[in-house]
Amino acid sequence: PSTSDKVVGQIHTNNEVQVYGYSGNWVYGKSGNLTGYFSLSYLAKSAAKASRVMVIDAGHGGSDPGASGYGLVEKEVNLDVSLRVERMLKAKGINVLMIRRTDVFYSLDYRAAYGVKNGADAFVAIHSNSYTPGTSGSETFYSASVANDSKQLATFIQSRLYKAMEHPNRGVKEYDYRVLAANPLPAALVELGFLTNSGDASKLATSTYRERAASAIAEGIEDYY
Ligand SMILES: [Zn+2]
Repeated sequence: PSTSDKVVGQIHTNNEVQVYGYSGNWVYGKSGNLTGYFSLSYLAKSAAKASRVMVIDAGHGGSDPGASGYGLVEKEVNLDVSLRVERMLKAKGINVLMIRRTDVFYSLDYRAAYGVKNGADAFVAIHSNSYTPGTSGSETFYSASVANDSKQLATFIQSRLYKAMEHPNRGVKEYDYRVLAANPLPAALVELGFLTNSGDASKLATSTYRERAASAIAEGIEDYY
């Protein structure tokens, strides 16, 4: 945000800028295909729909525990990391709608429809994995059948998550999970790591790595916006 940096483009009178944040006399935002810093001196304020409303879906809950391993239960890990993501997104000025904040169960169709019914613009589900004991790492899924931006959302999160967890990158994968394929919003499903792997599970048992995972997800969401 300075006049000595490279000029990436121009906007004109009546072009709209979607504002994501402020830095001194500059705003960081997007106009058409341009994303960057705009001088506040040239912008006028207008009433706009509140942007950046993210749904966080802590997978499973209540009667549905999900996976388990090494004393960890998936629904509890998912919820704890989701609540950390909520706190971090709010600190970044991103609005958050939580599918659940307690140990309760909601159907996949309820979760998939929740965002669009409540004015959100994207959706992230948080899960933990299970497979053979030797399988380790994080992966993030999207469905190609609905919103175009889902793959970007998944990629931004995954590219930070496996580094934060210091375990293998299993990549960004296309799969029509119900909460993704039945969801009209850009949507991603994060698998934090394998509860059935001793290394992943021992990390996911600690607040240090839960905080690291949540921070990676929140930053990936901010990258996406
Ligand atoms: Zn799950």
